[in-house]
Amino acid sequence: MHTDFRGQLIWPGDDGYDAARRVWNAAIDRHPALIARASSTGDVVTALRFAREQGLPVSVRGGGHSAAGFAVADGALMIDLSAMKATRIDLAVRTAVAGPGLLWRELDAATQAFGLATTGGVVGSTGIAGLTLGGGIGYLDRVAGLTCDNLLGAKVVTADARILQASDDAHPDLFWALRGGGGNFGVVTSFTYRLRPVAGAFGGLLGYTMDRAGEVLQAYREVSAGAPDQLALYAGLVTAPPASFVPEHLRGQRVVGVIPVYFGGADEAARALAPLRALGSPVVDLTRPMSYKEVQQMTDGLNPPAMHHYYTAEWLDGLDDRTIEALVEAADGAPSPHSVIILKRMGGAAGRVPADATPFWYRDAAHNLDIHAQWAPGSPPGPHIAWARAARQAARRASAGGGYVNFIGAEDRGRIRAAYGGNYGRLAQIKAAYDPENFFRINNNISPGGSGG
Ligand code: FAD
Repeated sequence: MHTDFRGQLIWPGDDGYDAARRVWNAAIDRHPALIARASSTGDVVTALRFAREQGLPVSVRGGGHSAAGFAVADGALMIDLSAMKATRIDLAVRTAVAGPGLLWRELDAATQAFGLATTGGVVGSTGIAGLTLGGGIGYLDRVAGLTCDNLLGAKVVTADARILQASDDAHPDLFWALRGGGGNFGVVTSFTYRLRPVAGAFGGLLGYTMDRAGEVLQAYREVSAGAPDQLALYAGLVTAPPASFVPEHLRGQRVVGVIPVYFGGADEAARALAPLRALGSPVVDLTRPMSYKEVQQMTDGLNPPAMHHYYTAEWLDGLDDRTIEALVEAADGAPSPHSVIILKRMGGAAGRVPADATPFWYRDAAHNLDIHAQWAPGSPPGPHIAWARAARQAARRASAGGGYVNFIGAEDRGRIRAAYGGNYGRLAQIKAAYDPENFFRINNNISPGGSGG
């Protein structure tokens, strides 16, 4: 590697190599040829040129949360951005310029110091980079749009090692593609986000016993249908953790949980949540006024460390009773108690953006269905992956088509094309313009010019 690389180079056999190649999904055990932990955009250019000279494929690591493990590949050069965490908040224009190594809990802390926020992921250890580049859904998206809708600009190192500043005014086609098209177009070394004042919310977890799952999901559907933009709503078929807030007899048992977060007062929240309240007392009620930081940390820690994971997803048009029944049945049959089925109400501000304004096509989907298989090391993956795929198939009758690109990955490539719906062709053209050799291919890949996919 050239001597002008200022970051850290980590070779196989070096101290720290095993820690540096590890990603969030402990099922991923890959050995890169070299890890280039960049400290600047210049380092990214140097690493990329070196990979080209050596004929090495390149993987790019932001927060390392891709369940498919796209951040790391056998025999590749990993450009590791995790040390690039610089953040600059401009209060006058309410923007944040953020380094690609930041995690959501770090960016939230920086923006909340000024009472500001942008739409972010709901688990604090998720990287801002991969999440933003795939679209970005979270508690704020019905109020403020998706994360990618709040992206104002990005600094990008392209496949031919040029440094470009992309925005609506400069390289607008590249900027369009970055807002949902994933890591296909270059290495983003800085993100500029629009911020908005976000103070408190009323929210928390409501838990019910599994025998009530059908009626709880129906109530989730009812609340969803008339929900004001201020209400974010998730529902999950999960296993109750061994936590003090869970009644002892329910710990380790399947339960159905709903997480409402209302960006407003408790009285308005109560009105929006009336159909849920009409169900009677939940076994767990942790709803209360919360700061935005508390909202964002609510489900941190629910995933035990060092577990193996597989994700799949589907956009749903609606949630009819037969789909609810199928999902409840699937949850009951999960081969691992750690596997979960999560529904998220979409729409609101995110749903009012035209489908072709960014690559994120399924703006009119009613719900995101996220099937997350999770199992302990040592258990063979086959049954867990088969379960997740079957659970997704069980909900196909309600499908809007496609699935959220940040929750799919280790699946057939036809799903990537479907994930972009009517935007795939334009993405493929922009890929051909900026990366005709498909240099950036360790990702949810878009083929240059539209072949394959
Ligand atoms: P990485 O694995 O580092 O990267 C993911 C992909 O992006 C790879 O292809 C990588 O090459 C590419 N990439 C990363 N950084 C860059 C860069 N700077 N330039 C170019 N390409 C880059 N998604 C949501 O929308 N909302 C959620 O609330 C949410 N919650 C999640 C919770 C958990 C526990 C997990 C595991 C995932 C969650 N996700 C969520 C999905 C998440 O958006 C994706 O996993 C995303 O890929 C994570 O980004 P990362 O930077 O951490 O991942």
